[in-house]
Amino acid sequence: MKKRQFLKTLGHSALALAVTDVLLEACSRPQQQINRNQLKSWIWIRPIEGLSKDGWKDKLAKASDAGIDGILMEVYNSTWSFFENEHLPLKEDILAKAAPACHELGMEFHAWMWTMPCNIPAVIENHPHWYAVNGLDESVLDKPAYVDYYRFLCPRHPEVQDFIRKNVSALARIPEIDGIHLDYVRLPDVILAEALQPKYDIVQDREYPQYDYCYSAYCRNIFKEETGIDPLADLANPSSNDAWRQFRFDSITLLVNDILVPEAKKYDKQISAAVFPNWQSVRQQWHRWDLDAFYPMLYNNFYNENIDWIRKQTQSGVDALKNNAPIFSGVYVSELSAEQLEKAYQAAIDGGAKGVSFFDYGAISDQKWKTISKLISS
Ligand SMILES: [Zn+2]
Repeated sequence: MKKRQFLKTLGHSALALAVTDVLLEACSRPQQQINRNQLKSWIWIRPIEGLSKDGWKDKLAKASDAGIDGILMEVYNSTWSFFENEHLPLKEDILAKAAPACHELGMEFHAWMWTMPCNIPAVIENHPHWYAVNGLDESVLDKPAYVDYYRFLCPRHPEVQDFIRKNVSALARIPEIDGIHLDYVRLPDVILAEALQPKYDIVQDREYPQYDYCYSAYCRNIFKEETGIDPLADLANPSSNDAWRQFRFDSITLLVNDILVPEAKKYDKQISAAVFPNWQSVRQQWHRWDLDAFYPMLYNNFYNENIDWIRKQTQSGVDALKNNAPIFSGVYVSELSAEQLEKAYQAAIDGGAKGVSFFDYGAISDQKWKTISKLISS
């Protein structure tokens, strides 16, 4: 029973107050005595071109030696794929070498793919109407927010939904992978994380229309059919309209729950996602998604927050999640000292995470590998 529900149940009787402390201690005890053997540790890793299978085995052995249970490897980055398929431009079939190496070392292999952005030249050229549109009626193709690669697709367009379904399908049918890991499964950030705003020389004290998506004809028409309102023509301040905001949350949720999860399950594959703590800003209501695991990216430095924020955010994710899937808290290794890394790991576990995912392989020095190994084995 959760503390909050427990207190509500008890009400304010004198007896209740007398026993509350004892019972609350009992409630929280299992968390403190959590069995580390039941936790899982993960690592995100980017593709490295030109490595042989043995080369991959050498690389990944660092992770397995430290006690990492699973690898999340980027095999589609919105421009290039790194696995054999007939659907996306292929750079090199890295998956065919890395996945068997990973399994020989006793770790799971999950294929990390970008979901909504698409920077494939042929798609940009042939399907400009697939792309998301902002509150000024500007396509991401003409005015991408923040960076050139922020070319997000419209989540409600049926051809887009089919394109992304095929991306998942191309991975799910590969016998060597254990799961699919969705990244960028969202709209562009209407408000960037606080510490990132100065990097782009912008101040976002509220939601501005040039960063607010998706106002495509598809999305507006569906919303109008449901409500009678065209958000662009009929609302003075559409971003503040609750129904329109929920519609955007639902656009991503429908894609995940009704299209991508069933595709992965058709091939009996796990499916997970990297998700945001400030989920409203990226229209990512992940607590309602039917995934097998969630990896919130709890990069405290991006939000000008301390390490304890990782515990609080993990806890709020656990509390909000509709299914009982595990949460693996993501930590940003390059911004943390070895000592902070230890605290971040503990904060995630104290918040109810079933383990931690480290971002990313390339940022881990030999010293930090020692810290990770110690944390996992202690
Ligand atoms: Zn749209």
